[in-house]
Amino acid sequence: GPLLAIESSCDETACAILSTQGDVLAERLVSQSDHAAFGGVVPEIAARAHLALLPDLVEETLKASGLARSDLGAVAASTGPGLIGGLIVGANFGKGLAIALQKPFIAVNHIEAHALSARLPGVFAGGLPFPYLLLLVSGGHCQCLAVEGVGRYRRLGGTIDDAAGEAFDKVAKMLGLGWPGGPVLEALAREGNPTAFAFPRPLKGREGCDFSFSGLKTAMARQLEPYGMEPLPRELAADLAASFQQAVADVIGDRVTHALGMMERPTALVAAGGVAANGVLRARLTALAQAHDLPFVAPPLRLCTDNAVMVGWAALEVCREAQRLGVPLPDDRSTRPRPRWPLAEMAQRFASG
Ligand code: ATP
Ligand code: MG
Ligand code: FE
Repeated sequence: GPLLAIESSCDETACAILSTQGDVLAERLVSQSDHAAFGGVVPEIAARAHLALLPDLVEETLKASGLARSDLGAVAASTGPGLIGGLIVGANFGKGLAIALQKPFIAVNHIEAHALSARLPGVFAGGLPFPYLLLLVSGGHCQCLAVEGVGRYRRLGGTIDDAAGEAFDKVAKMLGLGWPGGPVLEALAREGNPTAFAFPRPLKGREGCDFSFSGLKTAMARQLEPYGMEPLPRELAADLAASFQQAVADVIGDRVTHALGMMERPTALVAAGGVAANGVLRARLTALAQAHDLPFVAPPLRLCTDNAVMVGWAALEVCREAQRLGVPLPDDRSTRPRPRWPLAEMAQRFASG
């Protein structure tokens, strides 16, 4: 029967119900707004908000799907990596529901869910085949992965300091913009000139595909020094935002070009995670993929940032892979949420046989 999925690893509380084919039957999502006043996610507030929101959200999703609880075939939840308080709330809720229904509970790795989101039905005609190059750019991550199969993720390189989303958020804060910074900065950058300021391109041209963003942050701070506490003229802020965004897109483009050279025969260049919602970055990656005769694939914008649809999809992929390999279907009722959960460990779940 259909699968109910829960996402609560950061500040999005979300629930989705997917058919066994992966079609979305119903979906509800709340982006917690209480964090804006603090300029970042406050873990304690997030956990409480998940706890307050989740029961009604699940109920509403079920109602919207037209299904009864007893129609559900399985329950899934993100159980890591992420903020432990929220993960515990989502995992316990999901386990409780699964136990009450006597159905399996599937613990989903949140990053694996981002990684497989490009394979959701409708994203790529006919379904995206392995192996593909994944650029994962989110609030907490920035890395290139060779996605060779479900559970088979080979890290090609990653950031040596900040994550891409983190860089957007910090720079947006410096510019006095709201939070989360990515979308506001992108909106302001539309009014600006991307060549107005020559920001550095950290690690550009360097071998491999590691990333670095802290130098960009420092360069921005230096540009802002003369203004002290004064409010920035809007035109200047827009030029700074556009130039910063250009530098990020440029440097990511360079790193991804190197990553493509590190793979045998990728089927596609894929971007996932919140920063993959960025229009300038998407345009750069589209051109880059074209130059390599590859399709550029990214989930629709609302599936780039955190959501429960990708969590449900990852759970279905894991079940399907277990079936294919003839190993037992996962039942993760006794799995504990983990603040850290490296992708390199994901192959383990198919190890027994
Ligand atoms: P992780 O998945 O690594 O645990 P997360 O769940 O917080 O982190 P996501 O929800 O995938 O990350 O993405 C949120 C991040 O994406 C934020 O840092 C946000 O600023 C950034 N972001 C969202 N939209 C855009 C955009 N249009 N341009 C640039 N950055 C964006
Ligand atoms: Mg978020
Ligand atoms: Fe995420």
